[in-house]
Amino acid sequence: MIEENYDAIVIGSGMSGGWAAKELCDNGLKTLVLERGRDVKHLKDYPTAYKNPWDFPHRNTIPESVQKENPIVSRCYAFKEATEHFFVKDTEHPYVQEKPFDWIRGYQVGGKSLLWARQVQRWSKYDFEGPGRDGFAVDWPIRYDDLAPWYSHVEEFIGISGNYDGLETLPDGEFLPPWEMNAIEKHIRRSIKENYSDRYPVIGRCAHLTEPKEIHLAQGRGKCQARNMCDRGCPFGGYYSSTSSTLPWAEKSGFMTLRTDAVVHSIMYDDAKEKVTGVRVIDRLTKETTDYFARVIFLNAACLNSNLVLLNSKSERFPNGLGNDSNTLGKYIAFHNYRGSMTAKYDGYQDSYYFGRRPTAVMLPNFRNVFKQDMPFKRGYMVHYSAARENWGRDVAGDQFGADYKEKISRPGTWSIHMMMQGETIPKEENHVRLSPDQVDEWGIPQLVTSVGYDENDELVLQDFLEQGSEMLEKAGCRDIVTKDSGQAPGLDIHEMGGARMGKDPKSSVLNKWSQMHDCPNVFVADGACMTSTGTQNPSLTFMALTARAANHAIEEMEKGNL
Ligand SMILES: Cc1cc2nc3c(=O)[nH]c(=O)nc-3n(C[C@H](O)[C@H](O)[C@H](O)COP(=O)(O)OP(=O)(O)OC[C@H]3O[C@@H](n4cnc5c(N)ncnc54)[C@H](O)[C@@H]3O)c2cc1C
Repeated sequence: MIEENYDAIVIGSGMSGGWAAKELCDNGLKTLVLERGRDVKHLKDYPTAYKNPWDFPHRNTIPESVQKENPIVSRCYAFKEATEHFFVKDTEHPYVQEKPFDWIRGYQVGGKSLLWARQVQRWSKYDFEGPGRDGFAVDWPIRYDDLAPWYSHVEEFIGISGNYDGLETLPDGEFLPPWEMNAIEKHIRRSIKENYSDRYPVIGRCAHLTEPKEIHLAQGRGKCQARNMCDRGCPFGGYYSSTSSTLPWAEKSGFMTLRTDAVVHSIMYDDAKEKVTGVRVIDRLTKETTDYFARVIFLNAACLNSNLVLLNSKSERFPNGLGNDSNTLGKYIAFHNYRGSMTAKYDGYQDSYYFGRRPTAVMLPNFRNVFKQDMPFKRGYMVHYSAARENWGRDVAGDQFGADYKEKISRPGTWSIHMMMQGETIPKEENHVRLSPDQVDEWGIPQLVTSVGYDENDELVLQDFLEQGSEMLEKAGCRDIVTKDSGQAPGLDIHEMGGARMGKDPKSSVLNKWSQMHDCPNVFVADGACMTSTGTQNPSLTFMALTARAANHAIEEMEKGNL
């Protein structure tokens, strides 16, 4: 057992851990980043980035044998031959599903920031006010104005493309030029605006460099090429991942040490000193144990793994998990309800086309229960839609050949529209994770038991989306509208949140308004685990902004000698 001392330790090198590392190193703190997976270096470790479909043995599809062995991860749309090396396979890291839960993970430097779909939106003031106003979960200890400067801070650095829309329900950020809607998307937007006074579709906001600025070039990143092969790792650095952005930036400062293959077993609480002193790590390959010590700990292992680490961090003072005086740790897990979607066709605009593979869609911010509770269900949903021409060869039939055939296969098909929901779910005590009493993983760490399900509110939200979505498309003149409830298990949304929620009262929450443990002030949890409620927005921008805010608070407190 070796001992090493640092100013700060960051657990997890993904989307949010990258931000903790950057902020701490920018401020001169000697920072150790612990990552359970292997190293992934920007450019060097993107083996499929330039491959064509015919370069893959199975044309970039997952063979049936792999699907059979890995039913959970195979349900994720992004799990393909080109990306499978960035996903955790079911067989490698088992967990116990008390209720069906598709836990999608990426265990390597970069975490899931290599794989994400890069859609980002700020929360609005209505999202932070939601739980307090509508009486669920606990009141958020912060409001939009507390986070707004940190949204800006993150957006400027990672680069967000978006349009300045001036909507209260989806506040604008620091934007690079937006992508463009195509003709039919604009047509649907016009129709929605004409028919509904409360609905404003906007072009999606996404973490892509449409026009890199000085700060992005300084990171070694360049313009997005609209290749839409992002989840292989982008050789242009055209989208944000911690591997292309925050981690190399932190490394350049000279203050960061990155230790890979470091499976964090627990955070160590010293009963005599009455504080957290460090982190216990088991080497992924040798299984050797090492303790690392630091003044502050940032836990950014992704929502459920952060819950697991905390639940497994037991001491005399905290027999039920670190900082768990409230007995809420592992509870109030929530996620996004993605079950509803629909497709449709549109006959017009046959002379319109579009350029490139745009990495975003159209977003319609939530319009239910925004200003007051006026529906028979709580909260609401965001809608995403996009339109594309169906396959080439619209008029091809039978045994044609020659010039006529060539002419016909060069004609794009009918416009088809895809629409989907992203529904808020209500955090509840019964939706929880806990440690298995008898099953452990390869490193002797208890497996996680997931007990998270839908409720009646989710069904009502789903029905409302299916009705409203169909109505909006019908009013826009679409035909063949087909609605679908995928019935998918929670988890497949990959937006799990909660378990160590923020709150004002230590009796009912684990973290204070700085994402700092009420009971262990030198521990910060600013990934999805800290979320008090889910909002309807894609969550990662909020995780990054909360992490940057927490890190800067920690730095200030350390300077004052309080930590
Ligand atoms: C296909 C896909 C599409 C997505 N699309 C979007 C989107 O459009 N918009 C959006 O906002 N979000 C999206 N997400 C979700 C997004 O990726 C996550 O919200 C985000 O990555 C979470 O950040 P994180 O830092 O908490 O976790 P991660 O990025 O997963 O990083 C956690 C890191 O911690 C490490 N770790 C875990 N346990 C330990 C341990 N015990 N010891 C040491 N290290 C540990 C992991 O190996 C990992 O590297 C998507 C995700 C996927 C997979």
